[in-house]
Amino acid sequence: MKIRKVGVIGAGQMGNGIAQVCAQAGYDVGLNDVSKDRIEAGLATINGNLARRAKSGKISEADRDATLSRISPVASYEGFGDYDLVIESAVEDEAVKRKIYQSLCPHLKPDCLVGTNTSSISITRLAAATDRPEKFMGIHFMNPVPVMELVELIRGIATDENTFSTAKAFAVSLNKTVAVAEDFPAFIVNRILLPMINEAIYTLYEGVGGVEAIDTAMKLGARHPMGPLELADFIGLDTCLSVMQVLYEGLADSKYRPCPLLVKYVEAGWLGRKTNRGFYDYRGEKPIPTR
Ligand code: NAD
Repeated sequence: MKIRKVGVIGAGQMGNGIAQVCAQAGYDVGLNDVSKDRIEAGLATINGNLARRAKSGKISEADRDATLSRISPVASYEGFGDYDLVIESAVEDEAVKRKIYQSLCPHLKPDCLVGTNTSSISITRLAAATDRPEKFMGIHFMNPVPVMELVELIRGIATDENTFSTAKAFAVSLNKTVAVAEDFPAFIVNRILLPMINEAIYTLYEGVGGVEAIDTAMKLGARHPMGPLELADFIGLDTCLSVMQVLYEGLADSKYRPCPLLVKYVEAGWLGRKTNRGFYDYRGEKPIPTR
């Protein structure tokens, strides 16, 4: 099956990155979110990213304009009627995602594929909320999407071979490398990464080290390009907590218990970079640790 038009639902940090890489690869892209303002904020981020790439000589001004011209706002799901693939990248909340599929699917053409960028939720369970489980799968991008080379592909129990091979060819066409994961909680990358981040938060919670000591230790002691707390802020603490909850409930093992300090930060609305405060406070000139 040939993909020409790609819809993206959710214009947040992941959704706008997905829209950008699809447009860069020549696809026509439609970007949707809950409000016009959110869509515009996503488009503004893409605009800024492409302007930076043009300024540093990575792309020409003409490429930038052509890429931008391929992305249009789509205010409601009727607008996705002639799309070949729609990727949902809304908040990591199963109830929200299910509701999206139920409202979206009646507007899609019968052979349109649906992908989800979920970090952790069962693909089989999400597929069951659509009218096309055989045309549904996990297409999991990494953050920041334009920079990170990996796409994890996850089949649900009903995903058919044509859907899988089309999604694989699509990911390769975006210049990404594919890793295939089975449909278990948090798949491969987050099954390994998020317990490490959660453990870093326990290390902070128990007073083994402060924010800076923990991040410095892992950057210089384990050669991680970012410290785990800096990385948690980058991912979004709400997303980190949701993934830990999915691991904890899905695998029924107490080793995945979300750290109470992570819960407290999320309850405070300190979600990391996207709200300007998390394990660091980003409101000033340079990030200041909050503990
Ligand atoms: P985000 O908070 O930056 O963006 C989420 C967007 O979804 C917001 O703009 C919000 O308005 C929108 N949204 C909420 N309900 C919606 C609805 N009903 N219809 C349309 N849009 C809706 O979050 P994000 O980091 O972009 O995460 C999005 C998805 O990507 C999640 O499933 C997350 O697990 C996954 N993901 C995140 C990362 C990461 O590092 N943050 C990495 C890989 C995958």
